Amino acid sequence: MSPNGARPARAHAAVDNLRSYLLAAGRRAPDRPAVVQPAADGGIETVTYGELERRTDDYAARLDALGLDVGDRVVVESDTDADAIAALLACATLGLPFIPASPETPDERLRTIMESAEPALHLQAARGRRTGLPEGVGTARFGPDGITVERAPAPRVRHRRAVTPVDTAYIIFTSGTTGRPKGVVMSHRGVIAFLRGAEAEELITADDRVAGTSPMQFDFALFDIGFALSHGAALVPVPRDRLNWPRRFLAYLRETGATQVDGVPSIWRPVLRHESGLLAELGETAGLRGILFSGEDFPLEELRSLQALLPKVRVTNAYGATETMAASFTEVPNPLPPDTERLSIGRAHAGAEMTLIGPDGEPVDEPGAVGEIYLRTPSLFSGYWDDPEATRRTLVPDPLDPRSGRLVFRSGDLASRGADGELFFRGRADSQVQIRGNRVELGEVERRVARFPGVTGAVAMVLPREDGDPRLHAFVTAAAPGPDQKELIAFCRAALPGYMVPQGLHVVERFPLTVNGKVDRAALTALAAS
Ligand code: ADP
Repeated sequence: MSPNGARPARAHAAVDNLRSYLLAAGRRAPDRPAVVQPAADGGIETVTYGELERRTDDYAARLDALGLDVGDRVVVESDTDADAIAALLACATLGLPFIPASPETPDERLRTIMESAEPALHLQAARGRRTGLPEGVGTARFGPDGITVERAPAPRVRHRRAVTPVDTAYIIFTSGTTGRPKGVVMSHRGVIAFLRGAEAEELITADDRVAGTSPMQFDFALFDIGFALSHGAALVPVPRDRLNWPRRFLAYLRETGATQVDGVPSIWRPVLRHESGLLAELGETAGLRGILFSGEDFPLEELRSLQALLPKVRVTNAYGATETMAASFTEVPNPLPPDTERLSIGRAHAGAEMTLIGPDGEPVDEPGAVGEIYLRTPSLFSGYWDDPEATRRTLVPDPLDPRSGRLVFRSGDLASRGADGELFFRGRADSQVQIRGNRVELGEVERRVARFPGVTGAVAMVLPREDGDPRLHAFVTAAAPGPDQKELIAFCRAALPGYMVPQGLHVVERFPLTVNGKVDRAALTALAAS
């Protein structure tokens, strides 16, 4: 019995719920591997679909006994493993939106998120070390022995009787442009619509083992979980202490029999630098078949090196934002043709469509012309948590059919069309900057700088100066010896108007990265200032 006597709410078996969707393939084959992970004894263990479902039910029963109502938020803090997935699916079962957090999330940031989301419960892994959680929030731990409640959540009334597909499956907090984390609210219906679209791409089968490298707080990690389980395949979460060491990372992929590796492009940088031989071997003798990247453009030089080492591996460019989980999957030709200047982000996955819209609100169709990507899709997020204004700016009437009342996702990303109608990412709408009154796309500067012989990566930024015009800076990584700065500037001058030539040039050993592995622009700003 729950505290107020009401029966817990459940999703009807016939409607979409993340739990039933992700365990469906496994139900037909409960003995197949769902998660491959480090075992307590130092080896590798396999958790089957049947076992994952059993853990999910066990956790759900415990959470249920706490008397939470549909819609009550639960922070699930952990690295990704079978227990953490069971915790997420247990929340989904009961209609409790989960907010994934990673142990490395700084206290301050987690506090901000919790102040905004007001969760009923903070649920962390048995070995989790988070302390100092706000008084009003219940706290509990999950592990092999089930869920142990440390501080019960405040008693509440259960108003709801059913978990519906429009109920919230999860809330992901991403970095907001305002500096306050933005909570992207995703429904069961939304995330399942996306996963169905992804399945139609036939990128993997039930026999695959998908290595996930993203921390659980990012939707890339949820993508990996959803992608693997919806196919009845196995997920191989790569532990942090493996990922950060190229040799151990590759050894782990081999030990676990990973056939596909998903991650942001930067996970490959240390491997290419230090273990290219081992990587080539992995492609040759182990079963590695696919690499999927997302989150940012793959620097072309690095991509070429990767492909040269892995000539048989299929590389997939997954483009999109947390607000719709992703939007497209595009196979990158291996090897990349020598004249390639930009990677295609192709067309939207099945069930969705990307349209380019110009500043006048009209569609942009001519090849080469740049417009903003608007995504028409059933996998739309519900809105930003507690931020109706930001929601209104992003979920907008469909410009192609404004009277229909239908909303689409305004991405803030720019793209242009190729000859066959495929799209090419052209940077953020907000990375368009003005330099001395001239409109500049930072991506254009970056591409020119990156073409200079020996330069392996480039990031351009405009940094304010107290005493005058903002200055354009370029940060570059280079093969030794570093580029001759004068020659590099002359090289830029040869192709770019004067206002697009970097005024500050910084050669860095490697680009600083944010926790989710994208280039950390704030750290570069600090570097330029010092
Ligand atoms: P993700 O988890 O996919 O990185 P975020 O919401 O953190 O999602 O960031 C989304 C933004 O990242 C997109 O709007 C786009 O600017 C950029 N992005 C994502 N994938 C790609 C890609 N494959 N190529 C280029 N840029 C990308």
